[in-house]
Amino acid sequence: MDGINFTLKQFHFHTPSENRIEGKSFPLEAHFVHSDTKGHLAVLAVMFDVGEENEAFQHIIDQAPTDKNQTQPLDKVIDIASLFPTSKHYYRFSGSLTTPPCSEGVRWLVMKESVSLSLQQLDRIKSLLGTTNNRPTQPLNGRMVVQ
Ligand SMILES: [Zn+2]
Repeated sequence: MDGINFTLKQFHFHTPSENRIEGKSFPLEAHFVHSDTKGHLAVLAVMFDVGEENEAFQHIIDQAPTDKNQTQPLDKVIDIASLFPTSKHYYRFSGSLTTPPCSEGVRWLVMKESVSLSLQQLDRIKSLLGTTNNRPTQPLNGRMVVQ
C-alpha cells in the first residue's frame, strides 16, 4: 500500500462493530493489524453479518484463547483469504488505533462487503470476548473517507 510493504502482525475482533458502513453497524468486526519495517500501522477491517457458517472463522474460534486479553499463536494454518469478502472494494481513511495506545496516523481500510458467520459462531465469539468491546464510533473531524 502506498508503495510500502505491510506485514500482518495480528488480528482480533470487536463486537459489535466499531466502524459503520452507510450508517449500518454489524454484529462483529475483524481488525487485521499490519505494520511496515518502520512501525507504521495499517488496519484492514472486515465486517461480519449473520448468515451461513464461516469455515475459516470456525478454525479461529476453535484456537482462540479462552482468557481475556490473551494472545494465541495459531497452531494450524488458516486460509485467511476466506475471511475476506470476494469484492475487494474498500473505504479508506486515516485514523487512530481504537485500543490503547490509540496511536494516530494509522491507515484504515474497511472492506465494503461483509462476510458471513453463523449465529452459533457469533454467540461463541461473543462469549469468548466476554463483553462488548467496541469503541464508540468517532466523529470524522474533517477526516476524508476515500472510496
Ligand atoms: Zn481493533
